[in-house]
Amino acid sequence: MHIQPSENVWKNGTMIPWKDATVHVLAHCLHYGTGVFEGIRCYGTAKGPAVFKLREHMERLHTSAKAINMSIPHSVDELCSATKALVRENRLDSCYIRPISFFGVNGIGVNPQGYPVETFVVAFPMGAYLGEDGLRNGIRVHTSSWRRMSSGAVPATAKICGDYVNSALAVMEAKSNGFDEAILLNDIGMVAEGSGENIFMVRNGRIATPPLNAGILPGITRNCVIKIARDSGYEVVEDHISRSELYLADELFFTGTAAEVTPIREVDRRTVGPGKPGPITSALQKKFQATVRGEESQYIEWLDFVG
Ligand code: PMP
Repeated sequence: MHIQPSENVWKNGTMIPWKDATVHVLAHCLHYGTGVFEGIRCYGTAKGPAVFKLREHMERLHTSAKAINMSIPHSVDELCSATKALVRENRLDSCYIRPISFFGVNGIGVNPQGYPVETFVVAFPMGAYLGEDGLRNGIRVHTSSWRRMSSGAVPATAKICGDYVNSALAVMEAKSNGFDEAILLNDIGMVAEGSGENIFMVRNGRIATPPLNAGILPGITRNCVIKIARDSGYEVVEDHISRSELYLADELFFTGTAAEVTPIREVDRRTVGPGKPGPITSALQKKFQATVRGEESQYIEWLDFVG
């Protein structure tokens, strides 16, 4: 996905020009994937730009770091203030924000203990991750031949740079086969999630999504959509979903910071419901879009106004 550079990048506590936000070739993370990152969105609202669930994202960054024994030398509060300052200084309105912390340069070898930890926060404009048409009409997905990595092999519920080789393999395969996105099954063959999204299924008016112990990333959008759905009177269960249950679904959709609420209209060449976004998906998508734009007073505290 092509992006437009912005003016400044936050690095280890100071603002630096975009073009200087570079990394040495011997950074440990580049070789061994030893970093953690986040994806956050900032939306234009009637009261100016507001970052959605900022604190939760920075808390998850710290939690992911803990999973790889990395200590980020910036508190959650500092990272939240840095992010808001970055959006302000770059005069951005709606944008995508990418914080990343990783083991830098200290020599060579797999053990990163004692290596410096570098932190960057980058912000730039970004549209619909799975396309405007996908948001409106739904996307076509397939079940990947790649399994979601097992939490016995890596901390699969943390957002670790190296873990995304798994996602990259799955999305490359999906695109090569003419699909928009992949669904990965976990090591026991149950549905896990997309390459960068959590998945939801609707059947007979009931909403289901795989539980955290399916080895998924605990999505922040997933939590928000569960809350919005329950508040709207829908029953939501966190339960294991098999591949064949997907084929019986009335509706399927993905959630994620980048993907927001994206309907799925086809899975493994089988039409989902009538082949267009279903009523529950559309209702939740509408409510989510209103929420992130500050139009739902009951969820206004989910937004952090940049000021
Ligand atoms: N699963 C994976 C593998 C992801 O990369 C993401 C994106 N962070 C998600 C789910 C959705 O998480 P969130 O709603 O917190 O963006």
